[in-house]
Amino acid sequence: MFARLCSFAALAAVAMSVPALAHAADFDVKAATDAYLATVTGAARAKSDAYFEGGYWLILWDALATIAVCFLLLFTRASAGLRNVAERLARWRWLQTFIYAALFILVLSILTFPLTIYEGFYREHAYGLSNMSLPAWLGDLAKGTGIAVVAGGLGLTAGYAAIRRVPKSWPVWAMIIVAAFLIIGSLLGPVFIEPMFNTYKPMNDGPVKDGILSLARANGVPATQVFQVDASRQSDRVSANVAGFLGTTRIALNDNLLRRASPAEIKAVMAHELGHYVLNHIVKSVVYLTLLFGVGFFFSNLGFAALYRVFGANWGVRDIGDSAGLPLLLIFFTLFGLVATPIQNSIVREDEVQADIFGLNAAREPDAFATAILKLAEYRKLDPTPLEEIVFYDHPSGRSRVAMAMQWKSEHLNELPPAPAPVAPAPEPIKPAPPVP
Ligand SMILES: [Zn+2]
Repeated sequence: MFARLCSFAALAAVAMSVPALAHAADFDVKAATDAYLATVTGAARAKSDAYFEGGYWLILWDALATIAVCFLLLFTRASAGLRNVAERLARWRWLQTFIYAALFILVLSILTFPLTIYEGFYREHAYGLSNMSLPAWLGDLAKGTGIAVVAGGLGLTAGYAAIRRVPKSWPVWAMIIVAAFLIIGSLLGPVFIEPMFNTYKPMNDGPVKDGILSLARANGVPATQVFQVDASRQSDRVSANVAGFLGTTRIALNDNLLRRASPAEIKAVMAHELGHYVLNHIVKSVVYLTLLFGVGFFFSNLGFAALYRVFGANWGVRDIGDSAGLPLLLIFFTLFGLVATPIQNSIVREDEVQADIFGLNAAREPDAFATAILKLAEYRKLDPTPLEEIVFYDHPSGRSRVAMAMQWKSEHLNELPPAPAPVAPAPEPIKPAPPVP
């Protein structure tokens, strides 16, 4: 009987899907995608292409700058000098390592500062992508460097403890340390770190908040509060996230999204963010990143052994357990990071594809998703070659995402309200919620 019912249900489903298939035949996915992409043209398209393509080179310059500074610190024996200072300042070995690591991170930050300020401040302003004054930007940089000194110092102290105890198999122990830091970071980041840069406040009650919480409940996300963050302090970029676990689950969206997106676009974006949460992408990224770091550590270990044999004495580096050798390990880790960029991007991009699919199914707003994606075209090239996308994109390209939305739309036409013409509708701006007293 059950089987009969099932086959009846299957027949009914086929019958019901016939009109959809008929519609789908009329709906040209590629033409609809092209029509959306054609709404970003001329100077706007040229600017976002130039901005994003320039970023490819910055990956290389950043890596080369780090490597150059590391060689400088080794050949001038400045690294050994920093270690001597640390040894004079403290009696315990772990504290000496922490002091060396803190000084090293500071020196590296100061020597790469010209590149950092060009990349993070002047270049962003040249492309009209920053809302920050120089003092505000420098303030954020100082805070970020402070966090890097403390977190990096602790991480490297733990790492060197592992290197000294098990000089051959330390990469395995270093992986465990990385995993612990990633987990602690994703727990503490939204609660302690992010509020140091931006103000989070509960979103005012209203239909937008109700819609987001309803969408969260429908997908089993245990959140009862929505926060809004003043990302306009830094830029006009739209963004949102669902962060935390173990009872710290928090939905946050930024004021740019509230100001610049229509209710349907907000729904489409939030459904994507809920997808990351439901699909456990934080846990997955901890696993993948730990494995990737592990391979990087093994490579650095081999590289260290090779160069240390030749130059170790000249550089005043005693052995692999000597923190003065950190620049040498970092040289090989940076080289590995450069080569692994396409792998890391592809891992993250795969999660983004999954969240896109989840979001389309949860929000059922393919057109609003497409227009929301076009808003990201201000800083991400819309239509790259497939190879470019694999190597440089940590999110799918605008073309891929709009095409996915249009494919979804073509297969769900009979379930959707009458579709608008495939042109970017003017966003209906809704005012950001007034501040909570
Ligand atoms: Zn995402």
